[in-house]
Amino acid sequence: MSSRFFTTDALVIGSMRYSEADRIITLYTKERGKISAVAKGVRRTKSKVGGRLEPFSLVKMSLHSGRGSLYTVVGVETVRTFQGVRDELFRMEEGARLLSAVRHLFPGEEASAPAFNLLVRGIARLSECEDAPTAAGIVLATRLKLLVLMGYAPEVTQCARCGGDGPLYGYSPGLGGVVCDSCVEEAGASCFALSNGAVATLQTLCQNSLAEIKDLELDDRATAEVEQVVAQTLAFHGH
Ligand SMILES: [Zn+2]
Repeated sequence: MSSRFFTTDALVIGSMRYSEADRIITLYTKERGKISAVAKGVRRTKSKVGGRLEPFSLVKMSLHSGRGSLYTVVGVETVRTFQGVRDELFRMEEGARLLSAVRHLFPGEEASAPAFNLLVRGIARLSECEDAPTAAGIVLATRLKLLVLMGYAPEVTQCARCGGDGPLYGYSPGLGGVVCDSCVEEAGASCFALSNGAVATLQTLCQNSLAEIKDLELDDRATAEVEQVVAQTLAFHGH
């Protein structure tokens, strides 16, 4: 077998119609990071492969690399379907948010086994969430933990500028953490305010493992503010 063939564990993170019978699948693979592959014939009703390529599925996939950047799916084995994500609308909505973040976050073909394992754990945990706030918490926590893996771990307990634990004002993407009332002026224009609820949520999501996140009193405002922390941190680092 030529070296143009390889097999890897992969998460299906996107899928789009390509022609009458084919689909283009976006994958986050353990061996090569984010790649796209054409799955031929999967839109035919008799295709066995098609059902294995649903977003959120964890598969073992054999691929062939052609001349361009697009791979061709040669074979697929299901490892886990994570059907639970698709069974409830609230899980599906949060899951879609996570996959969209992953598609935008990673450049092509840059492998990271820790990021791959984190995503698998995040989707596994999401597939069994019992309520919408927990599902939102799991997805936000997974995104925060991805930031940590990328080297952008936010300081969430003490002021990122003076190290004090005085009343916290908000978050500074430039300083990479929360800042206290006395440091706001020096923290620069990118600094924005956080409610007490958002600071507490940020701390809970950063300090607990995905398995420990449950029964969160996650309100819409705190969620939106933590979203802002993730988005602004990535923007500051050029993502
Ligand atoms: Zn300070």
